[in-house]
Amino acid sequence: MLWKHSLDSVDQTREYLRQDQGKEVLRLTTCGSVDDGKSTLIGRLLLETGAVYDDQIASLERDSEKHGTVDLPLDPALLLDGLEDERQQGITIDVAYRYFQTEKRKFIIADSPGHQQYTRNMATAASTAQLAIILVDARHGLLPQTRRHSYIVSLLGVPHVVLAVNKMDLVEYDQAVFRHIVAAYREFAGTLDLPDVQCVPLSGLAGDNVTRRSLRMPWYDGPTLLERLEYTPLGDVERSRGLRFPVQRVSRPDSSFRGYSGTVIAGSLRVGEQVLVLPRGRTTQIQSIVTFDGELGQAGAGAAVTVTLADQIDVARGDMIVDLDSPPRVGRQLEADLVWMSEQPLVPGKSYWMKHTTRRTSAEVQIVLHRVEITTGQHVETATLRMNEIGRCLVCTHDPIMHDPYRRDRRSGGFILVDRVTHETVAAGMIRDPLSDAARPDAWSGQLRSGRLQRSTSRISSEQRAERFAHPPLTILITGLSGAGKTTLAYGLEELLFDAGCAVTVLDGQNLRHGISRDLGFSADERSENLRRAAEICRLINDAGMICLAAFVAPDAAIREKARQVIGAERFLHIHLSASLAVCRKRDLSGRYRAADRGEIVNFPGVTSPYQEPEDAVLVIPTDRWSVEQCLSEIVRWLAPRIAALETASTEVCGEFVCEEAT
Ligand code: ADP
Repeated sequence: MLWKHSLDSVDQTREYLRQDQGKEVLRLTTCGSVDDGKSTLIGRLLLETGAVYDDQIASLERDSEKHGTVDLPLDPALLLDGLEDERQQGITIDVAYRYFQTEKRKFIIADSPGHQQYTRNMATAASTAQLAIILVDARHGLLPQTRRHSYIVSLLGVPHVVLAVNKMDLVEYDQAVFRHIVAAYREFAGTLDLPDVQCVPLSGLAGDNVTRRSLRMPWYDGPTLLERLEYTPLGDVERSRGLRFPVQRVSRPDSSFRGYSGTVIAGSLRVGEQVLVLPRGRTTQIQSIVTFDGELGQAGAGAAVTVTLADQIDVARGDMIVDLDSPPRVGRQLEADLVWMSEQPLVPGKSYWMKHTTRRTSAEVQIVLHRVEITTGQHVETATLRMNEIGRCLVCTHDPIMHDPYRRDRRSGGFILVDRVTHETVAAGMIRDPLSDAARPDAWSGQLRSGRLQRSTSRISSEQRAERFAHPPLTILITGLSGAGKTTLAYGLEELLFDAGCAVTVLDGQNLRHGISRDLGFSADERSENLRRAAEICRLINDAGMICLAAFVAPDAAIREKARQVIGAERFLHIHLSASLAVCRKRDLSGRYRAADRGEIVNFPGVTSPYQEPEDAVLVIPTDRWSVEQCLSEIVRWLAPRIAALETASTEVCGEFVCEEAT
C-alpha cells in the first residue's frame, strides 16, 4: 500500500526506512454491522494519518459528488478499495488489508465485512489481529451482531478490544447514551474471554475523537481512538514463553552443513541450549544460529533463521524444536473449535489436509460435539457444520501434531483444513485445552458414526463355550508401572493356565502398539484410546470363551473403570503389581526410565505423568518383594476357585516355592 511521504532525496528515503525498521506494527481488525459507519471510520483514520495520496483525494472528491453518499464534500468511506460491491449492496464482502502509520507505530487493518453471513471473513481477519475495533451505532446500542462480532473476536483470541461508540453526533454527544452502552457491553463482555476492553465515544463522519480530541464531548477525557491504537501494549500478545521453532526446510547445501530453517514462533533460541526435537523426542543442543547477516547467539520470536544441532539426528520439515521445560502437547487427537468456511458442509470421517505450523498431514473430523449459536452462545446438537457456522469438534490427524492450546499460542494452537481435491480452505481451527470430558466419552460410549449399524449374534451360547473349555471366560487385567513385571507374569500365568488345559491368551500393551494401536502416542488421551481398543479385544476374546490376560500400565483410574464396563464386570478381574518406582527404575530393562528422565519420552507414568494406584484391585502382588514363582503361585491360588482345572494344578505350583528377593 502507499504511504504519503514527500521525500527529497535518497538519503531521506534511507533514513525513513531505517527509522521504520524499528517501528512496532499493530495488526487490527474492525467489526461493525452494515450501517455502523465502519468504512467511514477507517477512511477517516487513513485520511488523517496521511495514508492517502493527493490524487486519491481528488478522485475521492469526484466520487463523493457522484455517489452523493453524504453531504460533506468528501466521504471517507469511498476511500476503501474493492468498493464496487459495497457501494452497490451497502455491505463489505471480503477481507481487505490497509496500512497507515504514525510517528509511533505502523498499523495493518484487516477490514472484515459487516454482514452477518460473512463470519468466515471476520474470523480470517481476526485470526492475526492484536486488537479489534468493535463498532456500535450510538443510536441503536448493542445489536445481535455486536454479540456475534465479540464472540468471534474472543474465539479467535484477539487480546485487545476497543468498543467504538460511533455516530455520537446523532445522539447530541450525550454522555448518558455512551455510559449506558458501555455498561451493557461490559456486562456482556464479562461472559466472554475478552481480557481487555476500552471504550471510546466518537463520530467517524464528523471526526470526533478519531485522531483529534473532540471539543463536543468535554465529559470524555480518555484517549482518542488513534491514541488507543498507538498506546495499547503489545507485550501480552505472547502468552507462551516456551520455545517453538517449527522446521520449515532442511538445508543441506553441501555434505558438511546440515541446518534447519524456519521462523521462531514463540520463545527464543540460544546457542548451547538443550532442546527437544519433536515428535521423536530426541534431545540435543543448538550448535549455531545462522542468518543472512551472520551468526547470532540468540534469536527471539519472529526471527527467521537457520539452526544447526550438536547431534546428527533425523529432523524433517514439520518437526518442531522446543524447550525442555514446557514442551507442547504431542498427539493425534484434538478437540478444536472450527469455523466452517466452505459452501460444502463438513463431512465427518472425510479426509482433509490439515496445515498446522509447517506440518501438513491428513486429518478427519471424527464428530461434531456441538454447534455454537453465535448470537446467544447456545450449544446446538448437530452432525455437520455449514458455511459460517462455528462448532466444537474432535479431530484426528494422521501424523502427530505438536500443539498448544490456541488460548496460549495462536500459532501453535491454530490450523486450517483444506479440501484435498479442490485445495479450498474449508475451515479454521482453534485447538482447545486438553480434551474435555464432553469429548472423551465419545470413543468409549459416544454415538456411532452411522445409525444403520446392527449387531449380529452367534448361535453358540457362552454356556456351550464354557462347557467346552471347562472354565468361564475371564479378563485378568494386570496393571503396574513399567518394569513392575506385567509381561513376565502374564506369560508365566498363560503357560500355567495352558498346561492346566485352559483356553488362554495374552494381550500385551506393548505388543498392541506394534499393530492395532500403531497410530497412537502416549498422551493421556492416547493411552485412554489404547486401553479402549484393548478392552474391546478382551471382550471379543471372552466372547470366544477364552481367558484373556491383559498386561497394561493403565495409569488412569477412570479409564480402567471404563475398560471394566466394556468387558463386563462379571468377567473382569484386576490384579495390580505394586512394585515401587525405585525397584522398577532399577530394573529399567529397556532404558525407558532414563529416556523419560532425559525428556525423550513425554507423559511417562511415574516420572512425567501420574500413576493412580488402584484401590479396587482384587489382588495386589508386591513384585518388588516376591520372586516370580511366588507371585504366580499366589495368583493361581487365588484363581483356583474360579477355574476348576486349576484346583489340582495350584497345589503343584503352590506346593513349595523358594521365596527369593526379587531383583
Ligand atoms: P512390565 O511388563 O511391567 O514393564 P516386565 O515384565 O517387562 O515388566 O519386566 C519385569 C522385570 O522384572 C523382568 O526382568 C523380571 O524378570 C523382573 N522381575 C523380578 N521379580 C519379578 C516379579 N516378582 N514379578 C515379575 N517380574 C519380576
